[in-house]
Amino acid sequence: MIEARALTKRYGSTTAVDDLSFTVVPGRVTGFLGPNGAGKSTTMRMIVGLDRPTSGTVTVNGEPFQGLGRALDEVGALLDARAWHGGRSAYHHLLCLAQSNGIGRGRVQEVLGLVGLSEVAGKRAGAFSLGMGQRLGLAAALLGDPGVVICDEPVNGLDPDGISWIRALLRSLAAEGRTILVSSHLMSEMAQTADHLIVIGKGRLLADASMAEVIAAGPAGHTVLRTPQPEEFTRALRGRSARVEAGIDPEELLVHGLECAAVGDLGAALGLTVHGLAAQNPSLEDAYLELTRESVEYRISRGHETGPNDSGARR
Ligand code: ADP
Repeated sequence: MIEARALTKRYGSTTAVDDLSFTVVPGRVTGFLGPNGAGKSTTMRMIVGLDRPTSGTVTVNGEPFQGLGRALDEVGALLDARAWHGGRSAYHHLLCLAQSNGIGRGRVQEVLGLVGLSEVAGKRAGAFSLGMGQRLGLAAALLGDPGVVICDEPVNGLDPDGISWIRALLRSLAAEGRTILVSSHLMSEMAQTADHLIVIGKGRLLADASMAEVIAAGPAGHTVLRTPQPEEFTRALRGRSARVEAGIDPEELLVHGLECAAVGDLGAALGLTVHGLAAQNPSLEDAYLELTRESVEYRISRGHETGPNDSGARR
């Protein structure tokens, strides 16, 4: 269990983390989301004692990190995947960590197997690809068989196989009753991995809710219609109180407030031609963009960089 209470971190005039309170509970994967600069890494560093809060507290299993006895047995963290001596082999890197933390050699082989690095364990870690480096970082995090695992952007540099492997690993660690906190900027990936979300912006809490609740609070889904008769269809749809927006080309309409079947039936009743009809379900990405709209420092919009209050930033 991780508990943050009124956690605050200032660097000079920058408030990186601002009065943040949340609890990360065992048995599920908690996603940690927020735009660049939101304070995710700073929060994670404070959890594992690499940064000191300006005020407030954060504890792991009820203790501040400094108060944990054998820290690696309690909490494992993948924060900076390149935090090792490049000249050492993967095996020796892990062995050094194990020996300085009272962990047996057998566990080194075990975690190498767990992250799929057994065959390259003797190779110099400095020559590893980013993806292999992430695996080695995870192996180090899991060395003490900790009940709490924290990963900052663990899928960075992994190929699709690696991404689905890490998703399965994090889910199985949570299923074993561990506390898992993971950040990622890939919303589609997070949607498949996390059960619960903590979303922050400019250091402040924006949401602490289940995945389903966050998605349900976002924009509703819509129907994407392709038709060679967009004007006629638009008139008919508005007559049924639907809201209609232009799509990516003149043949595409985005219909809000009327489901696919009803749009198709309307076309059939009026003799209007339908070239395509698809339901666009509510997504984490849309919910996240809406939630963090005011918190992003810069957003790219129609080829221009715009400030946070530019209402044209999203379709
Ligand atoms: P995120 O991980 O969400 O991208 P960070 O925690 O890295 O956000 O950064 C939060 C804010 O704190 C940013 O404005 C960043 O520039 C600032 N910051 C982070 N670390 C430091 C530091 N060591 N010194 C000064 N400012 C920092």
